[in-house]
Amino acid sequence: MVGSVVIAGTGPGDENLVTIKCLRAIEESDVIIYDRLIPMNILSHARNGAELVFAGKEPGRHTMEEEEIIRLMIERAREGKRVVRLHGGDPFLFGRGFEECLAVLSEGIPCEVIPGVTSAIAAPEAFLIPPVLRGVASSVAIVTGTEDPRKGRRFVDFRRLANAVDTIVILMGASRIREIASELIDGGLDRETPVAIVTRAYMENPKLTITNLGELAQGAVTAENPSVIVVGKVVSEAVKALKLLSKQP
Ligand code: SAH
Repeated sequence: MVGSVVIAGTGPGDENLVTIKCLRAIEESDVIIYDRLIPMNILSHARNGAELVFAGKEPGRHTMEEEEIIRLMIERAREGKRVVRLHGGDPFLFGRGFEECLAVLSEGIPCEVIPGVTSAIAAPEAFLIPPVLRGVASSVAIVTGTEDPRKGRRFVDFRRLANAVDTIVILMGASRIREIASELIDGGLDRETPVAIVTRAYMENPKLTITNLGELAQGAVTAENPSVIVVGKVVSEAVKALKLLSKQP
């Protein structure tokens, strides 16, 4: 009998932000294929004897190729196993969860998707940064700062994006932040536009850096991995809230 595949998001890094549904899937699975940015202690919920496979992808260095991951998922499901594939954050947001789901379904294997709390929203929220705010920002774009070089062309045009939305949330942008900031300035954004770099939210040693586009474009401020970078006026509002928070006993 054919097994099944569950593609699940584990949230931004804190085990308490893993959904109950995802936890159940972990408890019930025979094979767990997991990413680099998941809260590793949730693996302790695995059944005795479950097969644990690390498929972590580091920026610029892949431990396991995507094709290999898909092949393994299909192979194990064909052996009748229940497979869960764990992604950091949400599986469909820059996680290749959809591609995996499609590949599995096209082999006639049942596939379920469990959403996760995405770092795109949750990491800024850890430091009280709202993506939108009445009277300040009514739109938000979530974009990648790094694109697959094999695609041959770039998909995110930061110059055009500059004035198209109020808040820009950039994932996987740490290593290219200087270039991105310059492009946003070229696209018409003020050098003073506030920027928040949220590093390792909900993980060990989280960090918030408040800066602006001008400083980033000069290379005066850099970003570490993993970071969610927020560009826009909402950042200044968060600074007000954080000041109030710091005054609390
Ligand atoms: N599917 C994931 C994103 C995968 S891309 C999600 O929905 O969250 C990986 C990128 O996510 C990292 O380069 C970084 O930009 C961001 N990221 C993930 N977890 C993070 C965390 N805890 N703190 C800051 N950034 C994080």
